[in-house]
Amino acid sequence: MFSFDTVIRNGTVVSGEGVCNADIGVRGSTIEAIGRALPQGAREIDATGNLVLPGGVDTHAHIEQISAAGLRTADDYASATTAAAFGGTTTVLSFAAQHRGLDLQQVVTDYHAAATRGAVIDYGFHLLIADPNERTLAQLPSLVASGCSTVKIFLTYERLILDDERVLEVMAAARALNAMVCVHAENQGMISWTSKRLIAKGKTQPKYHAVAHSREAEIEAINRIIALAKMTGVALMVYHVSTAEGAAAIGEARRQGLNVHGETCPQYLFLVTDDLDLPGNEGAKLCFSPPPRTVDDQVALWRALELGDLEIISSDHAPSAFDETGKLSAGPNPTFKQIPSGVPGIETRMPLLFDKMVSKGHLGVEAFVHLTATQPARLYGLANRKGVLQAGADADIVVWDKDREVALTASLMHDKTGYTPYEGRRIVGWPETVLIRGTSIIEQGELRVRPGFGQFLRRAV
Ligand code: MN
Ligand code: MN
Repeated sequence: MFSFDTVIRNGTVVSGEGVCNADIGVRGSTIEAIGRALPQGAREIDATGNLVLPGGVDTHAHIEQISAAGLRTADDYASATTAAAFGGTTTVLSFAAQHRGLDLQQVVTDYHAAATRGAVIDYGFHLLIADPNERTLAQLPSLVASGCSTVKIFLTYERLILDDERVLEVMAAARALNAMVCVHAENQGMISWTSKRLIAKGKTQPKYHAVAHSREAEIEAINRIIALAKMTGVALMVYHVSTAEGAAAIGEARRQGLNVHGETCPQYLFLVTDDLDLPGNEGAKLCFSPPPRTVDDQVALWRALELGDLEIISSDHAPSAFDETGKLSAGPNPTFKQIPSGVPGIETRMPLLFDKMVSKGHLGVEAFVHLTATQPARLYGLANRKGVLQAGADADIVVWDKDREVALTASLMHDKTGYTPYEGRRIVGWPETVLIRGTSIIEQGELRVRPGFGQFLRRAV
């Protein structure tokens, strides 16, 4: 009789509360013990020379989602969560996306069905509200109680935008339930006005997407949404912050004691505006919103992450294939306005950040774990269960080969877009073995579980 089902032995363990050389003993689906010289397990994983970290928690991904324009993401739950798993992510929060006229409860039911069928990692849903009518708001209490404890709203996109009064209505409803409101903050009028002028001048190539989505459009919207959150007292999460000023506004709000949080994404830390300037229609691959900015912004975003002004790095995985089902749905040479926004990133998020933060030493391995796993789990109602290695937590564990060098390339990826914005980049460090709830889902480069293995996470408020 063994004391443990699995022992991960002799690794450098980063628990979320420090770094130590230790063994991890797993029984059933949870971590039972972390210590030295643990007794033999039924199964032993030798992690000598490797880092043993909590599985990544990616709190912003678009999966099997239908856009307001009727396009479905290139990925379904099986492909997106497989890609996530290969990249060392074991928990994902995606969207139950309501469009105007749809019944929110029915939308959530439909997304549950899709994820139950396909997911190989654990998942939860944000409630994307585009139609905050009385009926929608009346459904919120039971949906939040069912574990979908966050609401997502847009300040832009014609078919998703909420005006300030509706934002306040959603915020008040969420506040009454202690649910956090997540927001895409860009000013619709500023983007639309600039876009029309660009197109009238024949400036239609993909690179003008970044001109249309000016930094001022983000800065204005972030400041406004903070004011609205202050008025209602709701907890706010500002998604995908791309500018130094946006990050500073969030930092300032936090110093005032407001319950305001911010995330950024690898595409704002590793890409810049000029990356959109590719020959022909190729730049369409890099059209995402908000767009990447400048090297100075990258420096400011890293600094904001270091200071805690920004607390999470998510992928904002928004897979759109480079063909007529996605990026080129309006034809082979679309104007920037006709290109669906989004880049793939669910698989590259953790390895890119590991390379920068651990291998290259920027902020270090504890900050890496904090920003990619522990803090996202905490802010989204999964504290002490996901994103940490401690007794009683789910045994979601990644053994990282810290020395393995990998050239990122599309053929290595498991999503269905067929490209990666990081093509050719060489990184050091790779997630070698990935466990969820004690079960190896990735081992020796292969997926070991079937679609449907992932479980729905009822999140606390
Ligand atoms: Mn967005
Ligand atoms: Mn998004």
